[in-house]
Amino acid sequence: MPGAYQAIVIGAGHNGLTCACYLARAGLKVLVLERYETYGGMTVSEQLAAPGFLSDVHASGYLVAKLTPAPDELGLARHGLELITPDPNWAQVFPDGRAFIIGRDVEETARSMEQFSRADADAWRGLYRRYLAAKPEIVANMTSTPRPLANEFAGKDAVDRYRFQFQSARSWVEETFQSPEMRYFFASCALHGALAPDDALGSNFAWLFASAVQDVGVSIVKGGMHNVSRALAAELADHGGGIRVNAGVKSGRGEG
Ligand SMILES: Cc1cc2nc3c(=O)[nH]c(=O)nc-3n(C[C@H](O)[C@H](O)[C@H](O)COP(=O)(O)OP(=O)(O)OC[C@H]3O[C@@H](n4cnc5c(N)ncnc54)[C@H](O)[C@@H]3O)c2cc1C
Repeated sequence: MPGAYQAIVIGAGHNGLTCACYLARAGLKVLVLERYETYGGMTVSEQLAAPGFLSDVHASGYLVAKLTPAPDELGLARHGLELITPDPNWAQVFPDGRAFIIGRDVEETARSMEQFSRADADAWRGLYRRYLAAKPEIVANMTSTPRPLANEFAGKDAVDRYRFQFQSARSWVEETFQSPEMRYFFASCALHGALAPDDALGSNFAWLFASAVQDVGVSIVKGGMHNVSRALAAELADHGGGIRVNAGVKSGRGEG
């Protein structure tokens, strides 16, 4: 019915659903349009391997679950969202049989790193301190309009900070770590942001990724990643919002 909705969100991935939930909680009548046959986007879980077994088709670890206030603010636990955070936070196995772990605290990680290089363990302690100092701002930026870059690079050490943010992963790991294993590990962290070794921003993403894993671990969603979007959909429904699937939007007009 024309005029029945006050906000239309295109795409029912977890970001679209989160946005819809906040709009609905603010009192708007919201509809989410999704072109796939189910909602969830990259957080869908489907029965692929065998009957009765769900697979996370795309994303499988909810890294930022404990960094953003959204799951608590939206009461997702009330809608069945349950997180399992494995200990250790991360493990990387190397072909020679050695393994590196990111433990629950930075010293556990540093001890594991020392089997490859003491200097690398010290480098990690320093990098993690840098993350903790920046964390309030990082988290604030996740939940607000991005600040102009000009602000970020003003003042003392501006050139160094600019370089740290925009350096490629390859150039950063070669400068920062001595052991090949730690270079491989940190460069691989950039790949999680779809950044190849020579792409700009690789250093910053790799540092952020590894630091966040150190800080809050990588949570697994009990019952499958789809339970993130299911909880969001339930919260949306509680506030009068709806989702329409098989409803792709083309140039602002509904296809179906
Ligand atoms: C293979 C893979 C593995 C990943 N693993 C992880 C992981 O383990 N941990 C992690 O934190 N992140 C992971 N990510 C990244 C994470 O999944 C994404 O950053 C996140 O899903 C983005 O959410 P979103 O809601 O913005 O977009 P999406 O999840 O992509 O959702 C967008 C939705 O919009 C719909 N849509 C698009 N265009 C239209 C249209 N015109 N009309 C209607 N609907 C439309 C799409 O069908 C889709 O459902 C992974 C990504 C991929 C691809």
